[in-house]
Amino acid sequence: QSGSLRSTFLNASKSAAKEEVKGEEKKHEFKAETKKLLHLVANSLYSEREVFVRELISNASDALEKLRYLQASTSSAKTDANLEINITADPTEQTLTIQDSGIGMTEAEVKENLGTIARSGSKAFIEKLESQKSSGGVADSIVGQFGVGFYSSFMVGDKVKVYTRSAESGSKGLLWESDGLGAYTLSEVDNVDIGTKIVIHLKEDAKDYAEKEKIEELVKKYSNFVGFDIRLNGEKI
Ligand code: ADP
Ligand code: MG
Repeated sequence: QSGSLRSTFLNASKSAAKEEVKGEEKKHEFKAETKKLLHLVANSLYSEREVFVRELISNASDALEKLRYLQASTSSAKTDANLEINITADPTEQTLTIQDSGIGMTEAEVKENLGTIARSGSKAFIEKLESQKSSGGVADSIVGQFGVGFYSSFMVGDKVKVYTRSAESGSKGLLWESDGLGAYTLSEVDNVDIGTKIVIHLKEDAKDYAEKEKIEELVKKYSNFVGFDIRLNGEKI
């Protein structure tokens, strides 16, 4: 107990300076196959990397759909927030943020969903690559077929932060953070809205994705099907 109190105290003094980390920041290694996928994603999928926008918006839309379903079927999952997706392109910070007011994730869900390759498409992707002993060029064509889901954010980001809080009552705010190399950290944070917010710190050669016009074009290209409002820098698109 005193150990956790101590770390709470240490983190509290840190948070006064900048970070909102409340509890202990725990480091977790990615599974070997996840590392492999991340390495491929970060290094060889250049030609189709804009699809990360589609992947993240489709995840946001899925999360909103799940919350809408839960709200219709039980009374315990009420949130006041509008069910929508808010995107912020910030060229000054060189970040792109995609936030949804959907179902969010518990700690167990974060570890399972963002720490392993739970997704069947990603497993198939890895298998295909391995079987073909592929070069980057082949990887490029396969990514379009399978998609790499959430991990596609590392095609354009050298650091990704995921703030999430589950709609399950009593859930705490969490921050998952990674540079996509070998590990991620997970910590409890204050002031997280129900839902999920993904902040991508863009690579030097991916700065374009912090431009509003670029993102607007991609949202229109890939996310016509989304059944929720999408706002970009505050404006509905
Ligand atoms: P897929 O969408 O095919 O399952 P992803 O890699 O895109 O694969 O996402 C993995 C999992 O992470 C999702 O199934 C979901 O459980 C979780 N997840 C990702 N983004 C969000 C989000 N915005 N809100 C809630 N859960 C999410
Ligand atoms: Mg997905």
